Amino acid sequence: MTPTEIAAPAAPVRGARVRPSGKPNGQWLVDGTAPLNANEEWKQVDDGLNVRARIENDYAQGGFASIDPTDLHGRFRWWGLYTQRKPGIDGGRTATLEPHELEDEYFMLRVRIDGGQLTTEQLRVIGGISTEFARDTADLTDRQNIQLHWVRVEDVPEIWRRLEGVGLSTTEACGDVPRVVLGSPVAGIAADELIDPTPQIDEITSRFIGDPSLANLPRKFKSAITGHPSQDVVHEINDVAFVAVDHPEHGVGYDVWVGGALSTVPRLGERLGAWAAPDQVAAVWHGVASIFRDYGYRRLRNKARLKFLLADWGVERFREVLETEYLGYRLADGPAAPTPATPGDHVGVHRQKDGRFYIGATPIVGRVSGARLTALADLVEAHGSTRVRTTPHQKFVVLDVPEDRVESLIAGLDALELSARPSLIRRGTIACTGIEYCKLAIVNTKDTARAAILELEERLDGLDLSAPLSVHVNGCPNSCARIQTADIGLKGQIITDDEGNQVPGFQVHLGGGLASSERAEAGLGRTVRGLKVTADGIADYVELLATRYVAGRAGDE
Ligand code: SF4
Repeated sequence: MTPTEIAAPAAPVRGARVRPSGKPNGQWLVDGTAPLNANEEWKQVDDGLNVRARIENDYAQGGFASIDPTDLHGRFRWWGLYTQRKPGIDGGRTATLEPHELEDEYFMLRVRIDGGQLTTEQLRVIGGISTEFARDTADLTDRQNIQLHWVRVEDVPEIWRRLEGVGLSTTEACGDVPRVVLGSPVAGIAADELIDPTPQIDEITSRFIGDPSLANLPRKFKSAITGHPSQDVVHEINDVAFVAVDHPEHGVGYDVWVGGALSTVPRLGERLGAWAAPDQVAAVWHGVASIFRDYGYRRLRNKARLKFLLADWGVERFREVLETEYLGYRLADGPAAPTPATPGDHVGVHRQKDGRFYIGATPIVGRVSGARLTALADLVEAHGSTRVRTTPHQKFVVLDVPEDRVESLIAGLDALELSARPSLIRRGTIACTGIEYCKLAIVNTKDTARAAILELEERLDGLDLSAPLSVHVNGCPNSCARIQTADIGLKGQIITDDEGNQVPGFQVHLGGGLASSERAEAGLGRTVRGLKVTADGIADYVELLATRYVAGRAGDE
């Protein structure tokens, strides 16, 4: 593919654009770089990446009390560190206490796993760190990362030494930076893959993660890339995404999406209508990230995601700016990828292109432990493999299993509560961190969802649901568990029960779905006004809904 040159590609010049009228939005290339709020100010005073030296040289020796508050609540995120919630504070007090009153002296540490690609050696190192430094905690997130809790700042340098010794990192795992790059969990191995996106993921991460020129974005910047026809990376809710498509003239490349994000103002991404050749992906990714840096809104943090800029510009202008100011060439127009015919969670047993098998397994709502990660590494190696992937659906995929070892591996996974043949409710339920560790949480998500799954497995036994029922459980009005994209989305809040008591519960959203859930069309679920369930009423509600759905569905619905 030869790009079509544009006569005079313009290098962006700060301040080159003139704001037409109205209040400045903090767009660097329109309004100038003067900070318009406290966050923007400290980000400019000292780059978040610079806090690493202080953690290693000062805070790890001085302990929690020695940490500068702006580093603690701001720059630590650039290295994957958030303070966690103090135990024992109920959700009703989340909104009434000051942030420091909710905060413990321990950290959540997020290990980024770009593309979800892990070796058993890496898995064992994470497991060991968890056991030794994180009270054996480990949660598999819905962005292919693994999060540990109870981490002390004193131990962080040693944790980094061990992670980086096996090629892992926490660099830019949180903060206003390019976060983990989601990648197809079956990249390079699936028999029905269109293209292996691993080289593109590697190029993006090696060139741009930790790059100071992209370390001060208006807010977080999420990326996804897949070469698998199941579109298994929830691409519609990323700031930039690349979905493999076979172009009638140019061959297999990627359909480019921009501007998706959930949270309190959810918006699905949009296609630019452009096709990127594999060797153009890193440049397009960099161009979109740079647009976000230079034109993204910085005045209000709740209006700072790329989706707000896209909503104002529209895709035509966005593509024009990308091509003229950043790429210097036109991208080919391209078709949309076909609607997936199979679910994108990869649960179960599947043949690889080399004749061996990959096996997707479900931990209950992503919760594992350090000991289980280590045991998983042992199990996988005992079955002749050294590769494991994480998925954006809180699942593991074990690769390279010889046919005669498949059943033995599945039995071993079951013993670790990692089911390769889960019930549809276990398979389809994910949950965010929730009140155990999250300072914003109102409701316990993991334990609540687990109890509901175990109850529903008994109650729905024998009911022919025919496809996974997605139940996504959030501990607060944010959307870390993607409630708007589930059949049943549950948004944590304090509600009034039948007896008039204030209890933990959920606002219900219904009818969402993404391409990877085999929807004809992705769509956001709707809030069902006034429909709320108590935390201990989830099983009753899901049972009612599932039985009514099965009784009333039409044809092959
Ligand atoms: Fe915390 Fe809310 Fe995100 Fe859950 S959805 S992890 S409670 S911020």
